[in-house]
Amino acid sequence: MHKPLFPLSILLIVFSLIISGCGASPALSTQPVVTTSISPLADIIRQVAGDKVEVVNLVPAGSDPHEYEPRPEDVRHLAESKLFFANGVGEELYLEKLISNAGNKELTTIVLSDGLTILGREQNSVGNPHLWLDVNNTIAYVEKIQSALSAAFPADTQYFEQNSAHYLQELKDLDAWINSQISSIPPEHRKIVVFHDAWAYFAKRYDLTLVEPLLHSGTAEPSAQDLAKMLTFIKEQQVRAVFSEAGFNPKLVQQLAHDTGIKFAQDLYDDTLGNTPETNSYIGMMKKNTSKMVEVLR
Ligand SMILES: [Zn+2]
Repeated sequence: MHKPLFPLSILLIVFSLIISGCGASPALSTQPVVTTSISPLADIIRQVAGDKVEVVNLVPAGSDPHEYEPRPEDVRHLAESKLFFANGVGEELYLEKLISNAGNKELTTIVLSDGLTILGREQNSVGNPHLWLDVNNTIAYVEKIQSALSAAFPADTQYFEQNSAHYLQELKDLDAWINSQISSIPPEHRKIVVFHDAWAYFAKRYDLTLVEPLLHSGTAEPSAQDLAKMLTFIKEQQVRAVFSEAGFNPKLVQQLAHDTGIKFAQDLYDDTLGNTPETNSYIGMMKKNTSKMVEVLR
């Protein structure tokens, strides 16, 4: 005979809680769900959604979104969602298939980068997806998120407006802070080498020189030619440091630092948040990235 999984008394308590309508318990909540791809976007959406809407990100923090293969639970999340917030520009290559598998006729997809200036179209036809590393683009994302949430859940429009007004102020402060920090680095030192092509928007906004990255989105490994070009650039431009990125293998950049004798700095955050209190928010990761650059380049 099987032993019951839970003693009967516990089941009775749980049952009585359910029928007494204990709506505050998260396990029993019927909060609407919206979904996005990566953890930095999920945090940005949560700042507007507050406690009215549950925000789910498909790609787990700490992994590379460009190689992401959706799991069965992702189909379920999309089937339950009212909105999907896509970054666009090839950040969610799996999306079309996933949406069709989810079969959710109520789902609206919002592409956050629509209407904004896309960099990198000269390297590949899709362009560079990492717009959120320029805080000014994130400000545009927040405005779009606020109007999409308000359209989907009109009863909470005022709440979303308040949250977004507050967050937009924080983002403006962040943008100014990054500017002042980066401009404290002597201009001739403001050169960075990174592993993958995430940093074009950041470099443009905050006046850094960015060498061609080792890896472009959609390619698996840098070619020998890419590596040779990088070595030449590092020497000619007297680059002071190379940076690895969270979610990506640091070995190649580490090797590059070793071969050229320049500084190696670990873990910039671009496609993923970190897992420390300092780095598990968008604002936190942007501050951490900036401080790290100042620390090794100044
Ligand atoms: Zn990326």
